[in-house]
Amino acid sequence: MEHVLLNVGLAISAVLCIYFIYKSFKKRTLLGNRLGRVLIMMLISIVSYHTNYHSTNKLVMYFAESVCHASYDWMLFFMTAFVWELTRRKRHSFMKHFFIVLVSIDTAAILTNPINHFVFSYHIRQGIYNTVALVDPRAFFWVHMLVGCTMIGVIMFLLVRGILMTSRYYRVRYEIVGTLCLLTMVFIMIFIYDEYSVIDLSKLFMGIAAVFLYVASFDFQPIRLMRNLQSYVDENMSDATIIYDDKGNVLKINAKAKNLVDDYLIQNKDALLEYLELEDEESRTIKTINESTYEVVYKPKHDDRGFYVGSTFIFYDVTESMKRLEREHKAATIDSLTGCYNRAGFFENVDKFIEDKEITGGYAVMVSGIRDFKGINGLYGTRAGDRVLKEIARRFTDYSYNVPMLYGRTAEGKFTSILPFDYLDRIVNELSHIQIPIEEEMSVNVNMCHGFVVMSDMNKPVEYYYEIALLALAECKKNVSNSVLEYSNAMAMEQRRTQTLIAEMHEAIEKNEFYIELQPQIDLKEGYVSGAEALVRWNHPTLGKIAPTEFIPLFEENGFISNIDKFVWEKTAETLKNLSEEGIYGGPISVNVSRVDVTAMNVAEEFEKIVSKYGIKPEMLHIEITESACEGNKAALISMMDSLREKGFVVEIDDFGSGYSSLNALMELPFDIVKLDMDFMRDGEEDHKGGVIVNAMAGMIHNLDAKIIVEGVENVDNVRKALCIDGDAAQGYHYSRPVSVEEFAEFVKKHKK
Ligand code: C2E
Ligand code: CA
Ligand code: CA
Repeated sequence: MEHVLLNVGLAISAVLCIYFIYKSFKKRTLLGNRLGRVLIMMLISIVSYHTNYHSTNKLVMYFAESVCHASYDWMLFFMTAFVWELTRRKRHSFMKHFFIVLVSIDTAAILTNPINHFVFSYHIRQGIYNTVALVDPRAFFWVHMLVGCTMIGVIMFLLVRGILMTSRYYRVRYEIVGTLCLLTMVFIMIFIYDEYSVIDLSKLFMGIAAVFLYVASFDFQPIRLMRNLQSYVDENMSDATIIYDDKGNVLKINAKAKNLVDDYLIQNKDALLEYLELEDEESRTIKTINESTYEVVYKPKHDDRGFYVGSTFIFYDVTESMKRLEREHKAATIDSLTGCYNRAGFFENVDKFIEDKEITGGYAVMVSGIRDFKGINGLYGTRAGDRVLKEIARRFTDYSYNVPMLYGRTAEGKFTSILPFDYLDRIVNELSHIQIPIEEEMSVNVNMCHGFVVMSDMNKPVEYYYEIALLALAECKKNVSNSVLEYSNAMAMEQRRTQTLIAEMHEAIEKNEFYIELQPQIDLKEGYVSGAEALVRWNHPTLGKIAPTEFIPLFEENGFISNIDKFVWEKTAETLKNLSEEGIYGGPISVNVSRVDVTAMNVAEEFEKIVSKYGIKPEMLHIEITESACEGNKAALISMMDSLREKGFVVEIDDFGSGYSSLNALMELPFDIVKLDMDFMRDGEEDHKGGVIVNAMAGMIHNLDAKIIVEGVENVDNVRKALCIDGDAAQGYHYSRPVSVEEFAEFVKKHKK
C-alpha cells in the first residue's frame, strides 16, 4: 500500500514538475527560464530518488543518491538565480561565477564518489519493502552541506530583504517562495536524519512546490492592492455611481455619489428615480445639481435568464461640455466684428428683452442701414468698412446705456434695434450723417437711412416688424434726401404686389400673359413710319395691365428679364415676318436688350438663331441697349455690340444722355443709332449751355456716321427741337402711344411714304 501510494505520489510530483517546466519556459521571460531550471533539477532529484528506491543494484543506488545530491546543488543554484530575478536585484556576474565554480566542484566530487568514495561513503537503509542508499557524512559532506547552506542563506537573505523592502501587498510572493524553500529543505533533512524511513517526503512535496512557485511567480495578483486601487479609482477618477441590488438596497456607492445625492434619496431608489425624473427602465436625463450639470444614466440589470438583479446610476459630469456648448452658442449669437448681437442673437434675445422691460407699447423696431456701404468698402477698403461698422455699433452701445433698447447687427451693413418710440428721433438725428475717422487725418462720411415701424401689437412676433422695417428701409434708401421713413400701408401693398409678381412670373410666361406693343418712329423729314420699338406688356389676370417700369427692375434683379427679352425678341421677329409677308410693313423694329442679358447669354448668337428661324434680314432688327450697361462689364458689352454689327444687326444706344459718362460711351461703344430722350433736351431750355451741349453732341453723333432718334416727343414744340438738332426720326405720344400690332398696322397704312 505504502508502495503504491509513494509511486503514485512521485508520479504526480514528476508530472507536475514537467508541466510547470513546460509552462515556465513557455513564458519566455528570464524569470520563467530561471524557474524552469529549478524545476528541472527537482525533476532530476525525484527521478534519481525513484531509481534509488526501486533499484537493488548497489552501484546504481549509490549513483542515484549522488545524482540526487548533485541536483540539490544545482537546484539551489538556480533557485538563487530565480529569487535574484524575482526580487529584481542587479545581476552580479562575480557572485554567479563564484557559485558556478563552487557548485561545479561539489558536483564533480559527488558524481565521482560512487566510484572513488572520496568524499563520503554510503549506507543502505532498510524499509519494509525496499532499501535506499544514503550518504554517510564524512569530511566532504560538510563541505557539500556548506555550499548548499550558503546558497540557502543567500536565498533567504534576498527574500527577507524583499519582504522588508517592498510593500505589504507584494510580500506574500516572497513569503510563499521562502516557505517552500524552507519546507523542501526541512523535508530533505528529515529524510537524511530520520533513521528509519526510506520515504523521502521532499520528493512528494516538490510537485506541490512546483505549483506554488509558478503561481507565486506568474499568477500572483495583489488582490488587496487591486481592491484598494480600484476603490481609489472609483472615488477619484470615475463619475458618481450608485449600485442597487434587486431589493433596492445600496450595494455600492462611491464618495462622489454620496456628496452629490441626499442620503434620503440614496436609501430610497424610487424617490431617486422620481427626483431625477426617470422611468424605471433604461433611461438617461440631464440634471443640474449643486451648480454642476450631470448626465444621469439609469440601467436596470437582468441576468441571462431574465431575472432582475439590480440597477446602476451613473452621474456623468457634463458641466464642462455644457459650458463649451454655451460658449459655442455665444459665438454663434455674437457678431465677432462689433461684439454686439448678430441676427440670430438679436432675435433670440428679443423675447427676453420684451419680458424684462415689460414693454407695453410705444416701442418701435428700426432697421438702420448704411447708404452705399459697398461703395465705402470699395473706395476705402474693407478695413475702413469694418471701422465704420464698429463705430456705429459703439454708438448703439452708448445709447443703450440710457435708453432701454436692444440692438444687433442683423445683416452686413444693417443694424436692427427695438427702442421706445420717443427716443427714435434723437437716435435717427445723431445717426444720419456721421464722420468716422479711418486713418490719420482721414475720415469717411457715412450716411445712414432708417426704416422703422411702431410695434402696435405686442403679440405679433418681432420678426414680423423686422421684415416691415426692412421694407421701410429699402424704400427710404431709394430717395437720397430721406434719412428715415416710417412704414406705411402703401408700402405694404406695394411689397405684397412685388412678391406676387415675382411668384407668378414663370407661370405668366407659360400662360402667354406677356405680349408686345409697338410704338412707331416717324421719319422727321418725310413723315413716314421709319421704324418702331417693341415694348413688353404684362396682362395680369387679376392685377390687370402692369407697366414694364414696375416689373422690369424686379426681373433685372432676379435675372428673369432674360427670359422676357428672348420672348419679346422672338415675338418681334414673328411680327416682322407676318407684317412683311402681308406687305404691310417691312421693318425695322427695335427691341430692348437689358444690361443683365449682356453677361447672362450670348446675345448675338440668340439673335442669329431668331432671324434664321423666322427668315428675316438681320438689319430689320434694331437692338437697343442703354448706355448705362457700360457700368457693368464694358468689355463684354463692346464685344457683344461688335459681333451684333458684324452679323448685320443695327445697334442703338438707348436713353443716351441719362448715364454718367455719355461722352465716353459715344467714343467707346460701336453703334449705328443714338436714341436721345426729350428729357435730355428739356434741360437745355433752362440754361443755354445745356442746349449748346446737346447740339454739340448731336453734331458729334452725325460726324460718327450715326443716326439720331429723338424719344419722348410729346408735342409740336418737341418736334421743333428734334428738327433743330437735326434728328433723323422721332418717337413719342405726339405721333402714337405704343399700340397693338393690329393698330400699328393701321398706323403704318396712314403714314406711308
Ligand atoms: P424705353 O426703352 O426708354 O422705352 C420707351 C418708354 O417711353 C416706353 O415706356 C414708352 O411707352 C415711353 N414713351 C413713349 N413715348 C413717350 C412720350 O412721348 N412721353 C413719355 N413720357 N413716355 C413715352 P414703357 O413701355 O413703359 O417702357 C419703359 C421701359 O421699360 C423702357 O424704356 C425700357 O427700358 C423697358 N422695357 C420695355 N420693354 C422692354 C423689353 O422688352 N425688354 C427690356 N429689357 N426692357 C423693356
Ligand atoms: Ca428702349
Ligand atoms: Ca428709351
